[in-house]
Amino acid sequence: MSSNTLSPADQKTLAELLAQVQLNTTNFMGYPVSKDFDFMELIPFLNYPMNNLGDPFVPCTYAVGSREMEKEVISFFASLFRAEADDWWGYVTNGGSEGNLYGLYLARELHPKGMVYYSEATHYSVQKNIHLLNMPNIVISTQENGEINYEDLEDTIRMNRHMPVIIMANIGTTMTEARDDIGKIKAILKKLAIKNHYIHADGALSGSYSAFIEPRPAFDFADGADSIAISGHKFFGSPMPCGVVVAKKSNRDRIARSVAYIGSVDTTITGSRNGHSPLFLWYTLKKYGVEGLRKRALHSLAIAQYAEEKLQEIGVAAWRNPNTITVNFPSPSASIRQKWQLASENGGSHIICMPNVQKEQIDQLVAEMAAELIVA
Ligand SMILES: *Cc1c(COP(=O)(O)O)cnc(C)c1O
Repeated sequence: MSSNTLSPADQKTLAELLAQVQLNTTNFMGYPVSKDFDFMELIPFLNYPMNNLGDPFVPCTYAVGSREMEKEVISFFASLFRAEADDWWGYVTNGGSEGNLYGLYLARELHPKGMVYYSEATHYSVQKNIHLLNMPNIVISTQENGEINYEDLEDTIRMNRHMPVIIMANIGTTMTEARDDIGKIKAILKKLAIKNHYIHADGALSGSYSAFIEPRPAFDFADGADSIAISGHKFFGSPMPCGVVVAKKSNRDRIARSVAYIGSVDTTITGSRNGHSPLFLWYTLKKYGVEGLRKRALHSLAIAQYAEEKLQEIGVAAWRNPNTITVNFPSPSASIRQKWQLASENGGSHIICMPNVQKEQIDQLVAEMAAELIVA
């Protein structure tokens, strides 16, 4: 017999989890997740089984969802990423990884005999996805800053000139936020006279705000990308992981398959799809607008510059790729890394100055690192 309420013990567990989440959210600068959101207005929607199954642009028999908002979100990003007016399509994903998987999937359907090239700084999920899709691939070395080594890319493609080229370009690598330049990649393809190619841009963090900065990095459709994936919970901020993938409609049409059961077209990776996340993204885009988002990006860039300077002032070898919000430095002690949840790799750590980060947090971290330098 169940009373349909939580037992006191379970309520306590729940309350403890909430306290822990709240605490761990305060000191948090190592991962690219925005925390400055307030979605209270959307709470009533949590009482409904929202599901956007199928293709957002094709109506579905299941009608409890947020398709109209999802289409607006995709349309917003298609124009931000300078897609051709009548040749864009996309959907709200469960995160950047799914968007990257989708880009690779489209590329493989278009070029079944293609070779995938990606740099060694590529996100760990990409390798797994290439494995899932069983695509031949070659890892390209990176420059010191984490950007792809264009010479290595050119030499490697030259050796495999008989195969179509599929490139997974990083628009902001996970560790140093280095951007691969799609203009330079296109120039290599042109120089080697490669006719069959596909470029997917992994813009998980940086792709979300690159359109707002000057000079504009070469990362979007007008620069030569065939598809772009971003994360929704990073720069924009969302309580649940989500993302957006935008691709060329003409390419998506080649894989579309109509499914009678849902009365829509099965063009997405999963069957059921989160009906809430498009609503949360739509809400954020409407609240900020392009100008508000630009302000958020400029705030983050200014804080990152401040952090870089403050760390250098205390003798820490901090550095940053141009126009990025990730500040890299030699890893501090384990206790500082743990407190601020700093990801570390090969002796290096970073902070990511997401829009919620303010000077006060930087000052605090810098003071803690300075104290450690004195003791050492
Ligand atoms: C975060 C990230 C991903 C993965 O995105 P999720 O939204 O976590 O699935 C992929 N690539 C890069 C460069 C990332 O920073």
